[in-house]
Parts: sequence; C-alpha cells; structure tokens
Amino acid sequence: MFCPNCKKNILLIMEYENIELDFCPDCLGVWLDAEELQWILESQFDERSIFTKTTVDETKKKCPRCQTYMQKVSLPQNDKIVYDICPENHGIWFDRGELENLIQNLPEFPGALSFLQWLKTIFHYQSGQEK
Ligand SMILES: [Zn+2]
Ligand SMILES: [Zn+2]
Repeated sequence: MFCPNCKKNILLIMEYENIELDFCPDCLGVWLDAEELQWILESQFDERSIFTKTTVDETKKKCPRCQTYMQKVSLPQNDKIVYDICPENHGIWFDRGELENLIQNLPEFPGALSFLQWLKTIFHYQSGQEK
C-alpha cells in the first residue's frame, strides 16, 4: 500500500494492542482501516457518523486500498482539521498529527487516553512544532 500523501512511499506497519496501523515513515501520516478506530477507542460506533462532510480547498487524496478519491471530512466540534475518508468505507487517512488531534477531540471514548499516550511516545509529537 502506498502513502496517499507522498504516493511513492510504501506504508509500514506498527502494532498497537494487536491492531496493525499503517503509517508512512516519511511524512508520518497514518492510515486506519475500517473498524480500527473502533478497536482503538474500545467501543462500537459508526465511524463515519462522527464526521461531517466539509468543503475545503485541499488537494484530494486517493484511498490507498481502492484508489478512489477520498472525501474531506471534519468533526463538527472542530472543523479546522480536515481528514480524508474513503467513500467505499476502506478507512481513514490522517496527515501528520491529525490522528492525535482526532483522538484529543474524542476524550469520552474509553481507549482514547492510552492511545494518545502511545502515539506521543511513537511519534515524539511536541506541541508547537506542528505546522
Ligand atoms: Zn507519506
Ligand atoms: Zn477505498
């Protein structure tokens, strides 16, 4: 699977609690297959239902699974950050830092805090360094 952002890099796999997450070693974007967000957050919900469609002037990316152009979506509670979601429901793409941002906006889910901690260790995110 190629990175939908850099296109030429192959996504690598990292493991979080037996969940295999695909990430790009170069741009540090993360791909979550369908249902992986539910496993991470330790709850069952309709992954697509937490997002709303948004219209932004941002380059469209292709789903790494089916190569269909993904839809731009955001959370109703924070529409500044835009995520890419496959219309065929293969999964969600997060540019660097966006996955962390998403989870921060969903603190009510049981798995949110421990995953955030793990993300910070893995990517060494530091606030203020994000562009
Ligand atoms: Zn990349
Ligand atoms: Zn797809």
